[in-house]
Amino acid sequence: MNLKDIQSADVAGKRVLLRTSLNVPLTLQGEVADAFRLESALPTITWLAEQGAKIILVGYIGRTGGTLAPVARALQTLVPHISITFTQTPIASLGAEVTALQNGTCLMLENIRLEEGEEKNDPALAAALASLADVFVNDAFAEAHRTYASNVGVATLIPSYAGMLFQEECTHLEEALTPPSGAVAVIGGAKFETKQPLIEKLLAQGYTELLLGGALANDLLRARGLPIGASLVSNAALPESIAGDERIVMPTDLVVTEEENTAERNTLTNDVRATEKIVDIGDRSSVVWGAKIAAAPFVVWNGPMGVYEKGYTNATNVLAEAIAGGTCRAIIGGGDTAAAIRAHTFDTKRVFVSTGGGAMLEFLATGTLPAITPLLS
Ligand code: ADP
Ligand code: MG
Repeated sequence: MNLKDIQSADVAGKRVLLRTSLNVPLTLQGEVADAFRLESALPTITWLAEQGAKIILVGYIGRTGGTLAPVARALQTLVPHISITFTQTPIASLGAEVTALQNGTCLMLENIRLEEGEEKNDPALAAALASLADVFVNDAFAEAHRTYASNVGVATLIPSYAGMLFQEECTHLEEALTPPSGAVAVIGGAKFETKQPLIEKLLAQGYTELLLGGALANDLLRARGLPIGASLVSNAALPESIAGDERIVMPTDLVVTEEENTAERNTLTNDVRATEKIVDIGDRSSVVWGAKIAAAPFVVWNGPMGVYEKGYTNATNVLAEAIAGGTCRAIIGGGDTAAAIRAHTFDTKRVFVSTGGGAMLEFLATGTLPAITPLLS
């Protein structure tokens, strides 16, 4: 993949519109709870500032009133040497603030999703964004599966480049498209139908085993005639091509409960009662899968093994620990999954943690993303 590299551009004194993934989790008090995406965005921001660019930073946040104000504060503490001014002026009225920008400083715009045209990829908004800058840089890999004005529309209007994180993500994820023999995929989370194209692609690419956990395992268990009680499953049944494929591995034991956060038990996969819900893969499965992936040549993993946000984190953590302490090369993505691995120390040359969840899944399933196309040379 030949992405236009921002580091090949002369940006000194230029106005650079930088699209970054600023969509970070917030605490109940509205402060940044996890700065992983912001930390990942620093190489490009720092490089642009060092080059003397005038940075116009654009991104969105999904929750809590929709303001990026707390994100601007958190970002400023990460780069105290770069002046960041946060503005809530609408795009159409930003001219004077952009003209006043000094070289090597940053003007951070309010949540771009508050602009009506953003999610419709409205040409008028794309043009307004393009008029603010000489150069566009996309570093928001985590949102590259979306076709929005601020990541696709604007990129077709002015010279556009991929930022450092964007390039790093693509380079690492491309590795997963041509797995070495013995490679293992671990797919968890929910909504089988959204992950079916990926599962089919991984099988076609020659992954030796696909370990299915999370609610995806429930779909597989049901399709193989095993009881799943009152567990979450998709409406659609699994196609026989998946259910009957021996490379698709289901857990041999499970954690089940009648009611979330009441008594739970670890049970064999063929022994789930009608009133029980599967909330995690079992203790034995976690250990067996952990050992399997730690020693595999290559592992790609997206999605938690259990109902992570309700505290069923055990199996996900066992797998994360196994990868951190193992010898496999690994690519890991998705919010909960990435957080689980980052709780450990590991060799970052061996294990790559993607900032993408949905973007990672779509890239692995299709080999490209809508926001990649305008950045190709
Ligand atoms: P993300 O939200 O990180 O993009 P997904 O939407 O694919 O990832 O899946 C995460 C969701 O899957 C979480 O909300 C988690 O609670 C849910 N999940 C995982 N295992 C189970 C399970 N056994 N039963 C019900 N939900 C599950
Ligand atoms: Mg989800």
